[in-house]
Amino acid sequence: MLRLSDLALPLDHSSAELEQAVIARLGIDPADLERMTIVRRGNDARRKAAIKLVYSLDIVLRNEAEVLARFADDQHVRQTPDTSYKFVTHAPANYDGPRPVVIGAGPCGLLAGLVLAQMGFRPIIVERGKAVRERTKDTWGLWRRSVLNPESNVQFGEGGAGTFSDGKLYSRIKDQRHLGRKVLSEFVKAGAPDDILTEAHPHIGTFRLVTMVMSMRETIEKLGGEYRFQTRVEDFEIEEGADGERRLVGLHLSDGEYLPARHVIMAVGHSARDTFYKLHERGVHIEAKPFAIGVRIEHPQSWIDTARYGPSAGNKILGAAAYSLSHKCSNGRVVYSFCMCPGGRVVAATSEEGRVVTNGMSQYSRAEFNANSGIVVDIDPERDYPGDPLAGIAFQRKFEELAYKAGGSNYKAPGQKLGDFLAGRPSTEFGVVTPSYQPGVHLTDLSECLPDYVIESIREALPVFGRQVPGYDHPDVVMTGVETRTSSPVRITRGRDYQSLNTRGLYPAGEGAGYAGGILSAAVDGIRVAEALALELVSEPVPA
Ligand code: FAD
Repeated sequence: MLRLSDLALPLDHSSAELEQAVIARLGIDPADLERMTIVRRGNDARRKAAIKLVYSLDIVLRNEAEVLARFADDQHVRQTPDTSYKFVTHAPANYDGPRPVVIGAGPCGLLAGLVLAQMGFRPIIVERGKAVRERTKDTWGLWRRSVLNPESNVQFGEGGAGTFSDGKLYSRIKDQRHLGRKVLSEFVKAGAPDDILTEAHPHIGTFRLVTMVMSMRETIEKLGGEYRFQTRVEDFEIEEGADGERRLVGLHLSDGEYLPARHVIMAVGHSARDTFYKLHERGVHIEAKPFAIGVRIEHPQSWIDTARYGPSAGNKILGAAAYSLSHKCSNGRVVYSFCMCPGGRVVAATSEEGRVVTNGMSQYSRAEFNANSGIVVDIDPERDYPGDPLAGIAFQRKFEELAYKAGGSNYKAPGQKLGDFLAGRPSTEFGVVTPSYQPGVHLTDLSECLPDYVIESIREALPVFGRQVPGYDHPDVVMTGVETRTSSPVRITRGRDYQSLNTRGLYPAGEGAGYAGGILSAAVDGIRVAEALALELVSEPVPA
């Protein structure tokens, strides 16, 4: 099979026109074209009056060898790569060796658990939150009734942090083994829409994520895996050998059970602050790591569509427009858009009482009125939160508490209109933009709950963004805060064997350990770590 990439066609074209374009591009006789499938479709909107769809296609030809030879110097005509997933090992038949334990049922833990189960190792998945259906009720409890369940919320529970999200499924990670393809294929098998396999910027949306997560659980259980919900890992039993080597030997669970465990994937996400403290107390190697903080910004989606797509705004093929913005400030900081959610809503994303955190989500249709995005500023341990490895957590908590107070101490988010923010005065009434955050927005002055350098940097960046996306810096645009959970404030460093630098048997993984950012990269990391653990179980070397 041959892969043809970078084939651009006008926005509104028929499938016959696509076929003709392939025939013309390859200079072939139509009779030689046996079959073609779309493997990627993106758009090129640099010229708004002439937006193009850009395809990669897999093509079966009668005369493939001849065509490949003719296009030997053309990087857009190549043999189709083999993207199928190959297991690195399998458990011996009737395996009765140690069962691996996975802590956390987010995308990282889910894919680690699935791959271990598919290899025959019958993992035990321990999750502090509830199964996803019950968890959904608790999550809505905060949004609708201002009642937070600290163990079952946007961050904690089956499906992990991205369950109530836009479900964006792209990442910039290096992925030579096509593990992202394995993740997306498993998602489709579990009920995600097929187009995530072909769209250049795929997304699932909240509703479908919930059913997908349930279906993946059924698969893992059928393969002999086991879930324990509402069970928090509270402590780690670590033994030190005569040679000084530290080894994880068991886990203390919140239901009082001691679970012997010598092979543990720790995929706890970036909000498991109590777990980070416990690991630090037990001497597991942890480092502070940079992350970003800021606000969530909301615009009517139609403004973004018009700014991005001009006369084609609203075209169904294009869908709701997204954006990605970045500005290097005169103070040296970088301000950038983060986790942009077209046609979605801003959500209350705290997992701790007395704190307010914002984030964004949307449904598959992306049909809600507003577009939202984090506008965040990079911060780092040396400059902004020097101290012990956990200083970033204290830093996050400080500003989340200030946001809670500024919002009225009832889980409403503090908010401000962009014009007032730039002028340095509190807002008193909304303009043409109505914010979507539930349980509500309390208008105030956002400088009360963010560091001065963050406010100063965002003030410099917004007019610059307004020049790139007309209307972006309209004075009525609403900003809410605070956006603090952009990535993990710590890294639980691991070696080449994917185990903790100083504690054997502990495999830090995913976003919480500082090895991923986003659903897809966390899931890919889960596969990599599961493979390393499986090879250790069957005592084979870890591949490079
Ligand atoms: P998590 O998903 O955080 O999962 C960790 C799990 O571990 C949780 O279920 C938690 O309950 C459990 N856990 C924690 N501590 C313990 C313990 N001690 N014992 C037992 N269990 C424990 N990313 C995208 O790529 N696209 C998006 O559109 C997107 N939107 C988002 C929207 C929102 C509202 C949020 C909050 C995040 C969003 N993200 C998005 C980020 C994405 O969700 C994360 O990057 C991803 O979920 C990280 O996966 P993970 O498995 O490493 O950790």
